[in-house]
Amino acid sequence: MIHHERLRPPSHDYPADEWNIIEKGFHPEFLAQLETMLAVGNGYLGMRGCPEEGGPNAENGTFINGFYETRPIIYGEEAYGFAKTGQTIVNVTDTKIVKLFVDDEPFWLPNAHCLRHDRRLNMKSGTLDREILWETTAGKQVQISSRRLVSFVHRHVAAISYQVMLLNAEAPVEISSEMIVNAPSAGANEDDPRRASVFAGRVLHHRAGHVKDRRIVLCHATEKSRITLACATDHELETACPHTYKAAHTDDFGQVAFTIEARSGCPIHLTKYMVYHTSPTASSEELCGRADWTMDRVASEGFSRLLATQEQYMNDFWRRSDVRVKDVREDRVKRTTVEIQQAIRFNLFHILQASARAEDVGVPAKGMTGQAYEGHYFWDTEIYVLPFLTYTAPRIARNLLTFRYKMLPQARERARQLGHRGAMFPWRTISGEEASAYYAAGTAQYHINADIMYALRKYVQATGDEQFLRDCGAEMLVETARLWLDLGFYSDQKGGKFCINGVTGPDEYNAVVNNNAYTNLMAGENLRYAAQTVEALRTTASEVYNGLVHKTALQPSEAEAWRRAAESMFVPYDEKLKIIPQDDDFLDREPWDFQNTPPDHYPLLLFYHPLNIYRKQVIKQADVVLAMFLLGHAFSLEQKQRNFVFYDRLTTGDSSLSSCIEAIIAAQIGDMDKAFRYGMAALLMDLADVGGNVKDGCHIASMGGTWMMLAYGFGGMQDDDGTLSFWPRRAPEENAILRFPLTYRGQMLEVEIGPETVQYSLCEGERLVIRHEKEEIQLTREHSLAVRSVSRR
Ligand code: BGC
Repeated sequence: MIHHERLRPPSHDYPADEWNIIEKGFHPEFLAQLETMLAVGNGYLGMRGCPEEGGPNAENGTFINGFYETRPIIYGEEAYGFAKTGQTIVNVTDTKIVKLFVDDEPFWLPNAHCLRHDRRLNMKSGTLDREILWETTAGKQVQISSRRLVSFVHRHVAAISYQVMLLNAEAPVEISSEMIVNAPSAGANEDDPRRASVFAGRVLHHRAGHVKDRRIVLCHATEKSRITLACATDHELETACPHTYKAAHTDDFGQVAFTIEARSGCPIHLTKYMVYHTSPTASSEELCGRADWTMDRVASEGFSRLLATQEQYMNDFWRRSDVRVKDVREDRVKRTTVEIQQAIRFNLFHILQASARAEDVGVPAKGMTGQAYEGHYFWDTEIYVLPFLTYTAPRIARNLLTFRYKMLPQARERARQLGHRGAMFPWRTISGEEASAYYAAGTAQYHINADIMYALRKYVQATGDEQFLRDCGAEMLVETARLWLDLGFYSDQKGGKFCINGVTGPDEYNAVVNNNAYTNLMAGENLRYAAQTVEALRTTASEVYNGLVHKTALQPSEAEAWRRAAESMFVPYDEKLKIIPQDDDFLDREPWDFQNTPPDHYPLLLFYHPLNIYRKQVIKQADVVLAMFLLGHAFSLEQKQRNFVFYDRLTTGDSSLSSCIEAIIAAQIGDMDKAFRYGMAALLMDLADVGGNVKDGCHIASMGGTWMMLAYGFGGMQDDDGTLSFWPRRAPEENAILRFPLTYRGQMLEVEIGPETVQYSLCEGERLVIRHEKEEIQLTREHSLAVRSVSRR
């Protein structure tokens, strides 16, 4: 169902551009949205796009992935096995503040008379750039240029290059560079369960601090989670204008203030370096020491070196990942094509910012662009983000899967608590422990176990990284297969089939149901892959197999039991409608009264009690439709068509995880109109605030889904049967060319789909076998190009 309106900022002040997200005017109504959109980050550290001068802010925020505080979850009525401890990402020390005073008049955007204002998220250089021409009340013209970056190369480092020049007069200028700890946080709950809980009182407790020349180091720690943060700023001022400076700090505040006698036409250039180090084990002294040595290194290298490495990194990123859409009629590049290109890059860039340096941590649902969902990791990572990473940056994909592997001890413990064998991964978490306070739409989503294993299989197939499968994957497979076998049972009522009851599928509007089709299908896949893996190890790698037996007490009979459960897996089917009901009782529910649901009552979860929703036939997000994408080979085209049509009218798309998937299946069944409309909703989810909550952070899953929509949907890519094949469709726009690179088994392939033909080129590597529809194509260094016609359906 497509019912969302778009709230795109006005194009005259936010013009489309292929490489930049541009803001030309200042519109307070878009403040919060822009803070999210213009956030910069590297997967470890993220800073919302607030102006340097410390305001105006809607929800200022600086976040470190995995840096959280805990709190007890208070239930009105307790029950056994409920998650006990909430985890919330902390808004850490804000270091990006650089205040400017000319003749003692503060530069403050809402009051300032700006002759020019241009802020842009520069996706080519990985920076947030700003150019302002400000006229003070005394008529003095001040040129301000700044460039902010969070380094991809230096994980702990951010920097701002800040230049001021008076154009037509001289004046006393004060530049106050500040760092603030425990600034009051916005973002209270306001009845929206998607937003973060807010801690009452100070979260960061002072541990140490020192100032030396223009450097300030402040160290704080959380009280309960006991994680320490050392944060340092250092400064370099280059100018021919006479100047002095003062530096000072208190427990929660640091300031280096420069007093400058600014002359007309004489540039003042301040570079501010910011360093963050965090650790659950290191002492304050040690962490301050780390911050100092990182700072010594970057400050001595200078901003231009930082920028050069950032640009190099971005260059490489786009080479491996850029998805291009071009109009074939070069003379008439259509505006929509530029908008689409901008949106594609915006999505890919933010995935990079959420994941690049996510080392020993996951990818929060909002990246580090906002506090919503409390910085938690969900299945979003494995099902929505990992495909992109697997095919463009396999090293990052491996890091994220390794992070799941490290969670295995807690997952085993959680399974034990719930009376299960094996391991049970948390629905939402930072620390590895379940943090979902609402089990019906949380812990009951057992499917996350199969989702992680699905991502593992895709990763291993696309990279050929059997080593990872042996070292980490196999153990996770054994434990998750055990969970499924323990959870389900052979039901006499269902003809002896293997059934899984009392779970919630991806669609959170139908909770705690029996035989959710998605869950059963994905569990079947999990069981099969586990059986296949341990049997292959037993016959081909006995040492690894013995190691696995040692780690998991694996019995020889287990694989057979998993295979049997997979083969006997019950999947609901309705003979009359010839569709797969989402669960056993789905068709018995009363249809939701869409006609009498006011358009402003979406998402339903904000307007109706869960019980009102659960008893009706209404869907939050793709569920059966998602299974048809992930396990595409298990469905015929006709089945896909029938199920898609049936579920389309019931799916609200209240979750941003829905549109991208609906676009893929629509494209696969040849409904190009719907594919395009759902595709645009996914593409513009954040740029046009389709869901109305971009202020709380980017929808990273939808961003990953956007890539899937392009590659799997319009690109016709398929890989779920273990081979890489393409059944391309026309590009999203008439007369457009869609081009994307893929890294497959260490080689790089470029796929270019035009209105009539598709080209496959091997850009890096020796030899690659792919399929175009049913035909096998071999690409080699000598014969690196194959051209085929795009078939139409
Ligand atoms: C969706 C979940 C998703 C979560 C975090 C919820 O609204 O229903 O599927 O994991 O958001 O993105």
